[in-house]
Amino acid sequence: MIIPHEGKALRWILKSGWKGLCPRCGKGRMFRSWLKLVDRCESCGLDYRFAAPDDGPAFFSLCIVALPLIFVVVWLQFAFEPPFWVHLLTSFPLMIAGCILPLRPIKGWLVASQYVNKSQEAGTEGLWSQLHGEDERR
Ligand SMILES: [Zn+2]
Repeated sequence: MIIPHEGKALRWILKSGWKGLCPRCGKGRMFRSWLKLVDRCESCGLDYRFAAPDDGPAFFSLCIVALPLIFVVVWLQFAFEPPFWVHLLTSFPLMIAGCILPLRPIKGWLVASQYVNKSQEAGTEGLWSQLHGEDERR
């Protein structure tokens, strides 16, 4: 089992999240469809019930991609005053792709980050140790 050491944790989170790989072993898949997580890692058996990124991917996608894109679209409108069809061909596809495509890597990063940092809701320590056993880094 690969357990990231201090300093390498961020690189591990980015790699496993970007590739959609299990944050514990780095071999099994994290997703069974576009945004649905697998129940357990096919390789190491990691139980994904701990993973609760909730609205995180949508929030970060909006903040990182959609808001800057809105400024570009508004700038395009004021700078060139293009006809509406230009926005249909440029702004709308950019906005849709820019909001949807980052969802999966962001969700992967959030889940991997939750695993590596052992982040959990207050009061769920028992569930965490039940899910991951006593051999984990505790
Ligand atoms: Zn695994």
